[in-house]
Amino acid sequence: MYHNVAVAPKGVRLRGLYVSPRRFARQMALLQWLGYRGLSMSAALPYLRGEREGKVAVITLDDGYRDNLECALPVLRRYGFTATCYVVSAAIGADNHWDAQRLGVHKPLMNPDELRSWRDAGMEVGAHSRHHPRLPELGESELDDEVAGSRRELEEILTVPVTQFCYPYGAAGLREREAVRRAGFAAAVAVRRGRALPGGDLFDLPRVMVGGHHAPHVFPLQLLTRHEDRH
Ligand SMILES: [Zn+2]
Repeated sequence: MYHNVAVAPKGVRLRGLYVSPRRFARQMALLQWLGYRGLSMSAALPYLRGEREGKVAVITLDDGYRDNLECALPVLRRYGFTATCYVVSAAIGADNHWDAQRLGVHKPLMNPDELRSWRDAGMEVGAHSRHHPRLPELGESELDDEVAGSRRELEEILTVPVTQFCYPYGAAGLREREAVRRAGFAAAVAVRRGRALPGGDLFDLPRVMVGGHHAPHVFPLQLLTRHEDRH
């Protein structure tokens, strides 16, 4: 789980959300060196369903920042990897209004043309709600609007099926998972720590946060040891 692939501006809170392009490139190089293939969620589903076996690292980027296109995409292409970017559909071409104040920074999000460039490069766009609310706090009709509505808005822009969902803040219970299933998504990711295993709940997939605040040796630990599973 990545957010920004960029150098963190000075004075920003939660610098861990930024992984520098240099470090991102080193991490992708390490994946390849160790024999892993970096895949989007859709490409990884056969592995998560237990239909295929292989060394696979699912690469996800949350919120849809423009730096994903500018800084992560060239690296992903260099290694022949794919990735899924989860986009807040009512904020396309705008910024991170939901946490800009808390973080002290307005970060530009991809606009429709940039999202199409991401798609055209073989990358996946997933849905991350319409406005990035905490889904458990919503009424029934608002919940459906945020979940199914984000899929509709993204499919209109991209003209390809959008089948992956990411819960804002990772906040989801049974009701939210059911709403995502009902809206026709194939899988959804949480923020819960851990490595996803074949046969797990596809609507509650754990992830590994790759943080810019981690020392460089943490990434290989996360990848190769039980570091993330213990928490
Ligand atoms: Zn988010």
